[in-house]
Amino acid sequence: MGDTLVNPTTTEPTVSMPPKKRIALVAHDHKKADLLEWARFNRELLAQHILYATGTTGRILEEALGLPIIKLQSGPLGGDQQVGAKIAEGEIDFLIFFWDPLEPQPHDPDVKALLRIAVVWNIPIACNRASADFIISSPLMQGEYRRRLPDYSDYIQRAV
Ligand code: PGA
Repeated sequence: MGDTLVNPTTTEPTVSMPPKKRIALVAHDHKKADLLEWARFNRELLAQHILYATGTTGRILEEALGLPIIKLQSGPLGGDQQVGAKIAEGEIDFLIFFWDPLEPQPHDPDVKALLRIAVVWNIPIACNRASADFIISSPLMQGEYRRRLPDYSDYIQRAV
């Protein structure tokens, strides 16, 4: 992961999340209306950031908001994995992921993998509107935030 900084108060490695954050938006079909309504309400805040989305979510949001969105593949066609790869490469700062708790998905393993990799890299995740409201209105959104990077050196160096 590039752009590694050292937090002045600790020797913990951190990465800089700049004021203009890179936000990934994903919603399952039954949650798209929910995400759309949330995004409309927060359009001016979202406009200050760089937006990524899985294919269908991105198309709907782009049409409704009139904001540029970097659209990846549709989730079931690999979009969730693309978001996960971008998180692992340090290209995504946080994830808004309205997944459907009531409906099995054809790409359930990808959903689990995306949620997992976001936790691995200490990425903020909002999986419902209340969490998304708290994150988008946080004062930390406006400035630079130094996100702690978990130390995986023991794991990387482990004897096998
Ligand atoms: P979609 O994918 O935005 O292309 O519908 C979302 C998902 O199911 O991960």
